Amino acid sequence: MDHFVYRAGRLWAEDVPLAEIAEAVGTPVYVYSDATLRRHLGLFQEALDWGPHLVCFAVKACGNVAVLRLLAEAGAGMDVVSEGEWRRARAAGVPGERIVFSGVGKTRAELRCALAGGVRQINVESEPELRALSAVAAAMGLEAPVAIRVNPDVDARTHPKIATGLSGTKFGIPAARAREAYRLAASLPGIRVVGVDVHIGSQITDLAPFEAAFRRVAELTEALRADGHRIERLDLGGGLGIPYAGSGEVPPLPRDWGAAIRRTVGHLGCEVTVEPGRLIAGNAGVLLSRVLYVKEGEGRDFLILDAGMNDLVRPALYDAHHDIVPETEAPPDAPRRVFDVVGPVCETGDIFARGREMPVLAEGDLVAFRSAGAYGAAMASEYNSRPLVPEVLVRRDQFAVIRRRPTFDEMIARDSVPPWL
Ligand SMILES: *Cc1c(COP(=O)(O)O)cnc(C)c1O
Repeated sequence: MDHFVYRAGRLWAEDVPLAEIAEAVGTPVYVYSDATLRRHLGLFQEALDWGPHLVCFAVKACGNVAVLRLLAEAGAGMDVVSEGEWRRARAAGVPGERIVFSGVGKTRAELRCALAGGVRQINVESEPELRALSAVAAAMGLEAPVAIRVNPDVDARTHPKIATGLSGTKFGIPAARAREAYRLAASLPGIRVVGVDVHIGSQITDLAPFEAAFRRVAELTEALRADGHRIERLDLGGGLGIPYAGSGEVPPLPRDWGAAIRRTVGHLGCEVTVEPGRLIAGNAGVLLSRVLYVKEGEGRDFLILDAGMNDLVRPALYDAHHDIVPETEAPPDAPRRVFDVVGPVCETGDIFARGREMPVLAEGDLVAFRSAGAYGAAMASEYNSRPLVPEVLVRRDQFAVIRRRPTFDEMIARDSVPPWL
């Protein structure tokens, strides 16, 4: 459920007409709904209320400081994968003890920054990283709270580019080597083992791979306790899929996911951390864009939008499906037409949808990409020297620009020409 609905024939975000935002800020622009973000966070908090838990929002899904602040105010912690994200979380007012640091390639500088500024736990993904963290923490006279990310070798049955729990991927330490890694952790100075971490991928629409992974975590936790380690926390990652309207996928609800967590690891008495990103932000945002041209091609018609793959890369990168709806509601009997919906970027891959049947649209019309709140603005670039797409947050009848569109001068001023030219 979200708060982007038609009212009197126009598409609204909560109590603001999207056309008003397009007029004020220009297009393309991302628009987020405060109420939807809070609602989705609340679903996870409720799903885990059978025991101690912390829902850490995966900052990489949507890292705008305003979004992080509103989620933090509603009780969220943050899952970060770089110093930049750690700094965003801190800038949003999130205390270090609610920030989990994940990622396969943290630098020593990043580890130092997180340890100095505060971090709940560092999810370590390899033995070399463990040694580096030990050296950094010991030199600072600190103990780093550590969970080891284990690779459970389960098939998340999602797009191969977002599956992380199979043994051939770069993520985590193979489950078979985990006890040895924990033995190493316990022997190193500056390391305090606090838990076990797993994250098997993203846009997962079936509970079975989660259950398989969580069972492995439970078995491992028992084995590690028998080895004498104190395992107090389980970080079970994110990855729960969302219904992308029109995609036909029906993912499980957070409630059912929470029940699966309880079934598989509830008996261990651990505090549970989860790291959802997409499910909190995905359906809480739309990308608003305007039709530039309707072009008749060879045997197909192109709807050319002012948003491009640089603004929303998911279709080009993951063959992702996004529902694209007109801002002015089409009556049920309105004529329809089949379009290839494309952007202006000079790449053949700059296609949002092929052969999509939609209401007839004309130059100047507004459209909204649904389900664009996660991995949308966060993955945007300036490719083709298109200024970074702005972001707007709506709360009831108010809206605010939370990242403005840079000017061309600002964009160009970041470059510098060496003295010999
Ligand atoms: C990307 C990522 C997440 C969030 O995944 P979603 O599918 O957006 O819920 C959580 N944890 C880690 C370690 C990640 O890399």
